Amino acid sequence: MRSYNSKVLNKRFLTDNTFVLRLERHDMAFHAGQYIVVGLGNDSREYSIYSGEEDPYLEILVRRVEKGNISEKLSRLKEGDIAHVEGPYGFFVMNIEKLQEKKLIFMATGTGIAPFRSFVKSKPNLNYQLLHGTRYTSEAYDHDAFDPERLIFCTTRENGSQYQGRITDYFKTHMQPDENAIYYLCGNSQMIEEMAAYLEDYDIDPFYIRTEEFF
Ligand SMILES: Cc1cc2nc3c(=O)[nH]c(=O)nc-3n(C[C@H](O)[C@H](O)[C@H](O)COP(=O)(O)OP(=O)(O)OC[C@H]3O[C@@H](n4cnc5c(N)ncnc54)[C@H](O)[C@@H]3O)c2cc1C
Repeated sequence: MRSYNSKVLNKRFLTDNTFVLRLERHDMAFHAGQYIVVGLGNDSREYSIYSGEEDPYLEILVRRVEKGNISEKLSRLKEGDIAHVEGPYGFFVMNIEKLQEKKLIFMATGTGIAPFRSFVKSKPNLNYQLLHGTRYTSEAYDHDAFDPERLIFCTTRENGSQYQGRITDYFKTHMQPDENAIYYLCGNSQMIEEMAAYLEDYDIDPFYIRTEEFF
């Protein structure tokens, strides 16, 4: 694990309060699915890496949380400003043998889609199905990075996506737990706890249920 002072290369807003921050990578090596710790002043927070393993920069996808300390400050950074970056950290990675033969079920709420973008950018031809849940259709963060046939977009507060409701409800009503699949769950703890408990009730081996809780 290393630490760097990284220049902001670019900031791209996807909605009024969610943006992609591109930072200098220096020589940081990482595995798709890992996260970095980004510091400003005396405080820091964890962010999953949104960019691919081969990209010459680091990207993170950040939701500006109301009254949040670091996300608010990150949203105000300008090109050329410096952030302190430490990492990589984490075990939410694809370290599974014969990965290409496995079916991968990715379930993300909100910005929890970040590590999945890094997965698909880094490893072509994955046999995945992504369920992405947000409140509004405007929160379809960079969905063009994914194969549209492998993506189910669920929104809780409005119509216009493929399913109105939570991703957990979509799974329970449209999909079957599959003991040959690997489950990657990322985002808010409520979704992760509910989904992991549901899969374990169906005797899915916890080894094949990978989780990354954001809050
Ligand atoms: C391993 C890991 C990876 C993470 N990756 C990401 C990421 O890729 N993108 C990202 O935006 N955040 C991510 N987070 C959350 C991030 O670290 C911060 O908690 C978040 O940015 C809020 O920090 P803050 O200082 O602005 O808010 P604080 O002042 O610390 O306030 C925290 C409050 O914000 C809420 N909150 C935290 N994260 C979110 C969120 N994403 N959406 C809505 N509400 C939230 C919590 O309920 C909490 O009450 C990750 C967290 C972990 C542990």
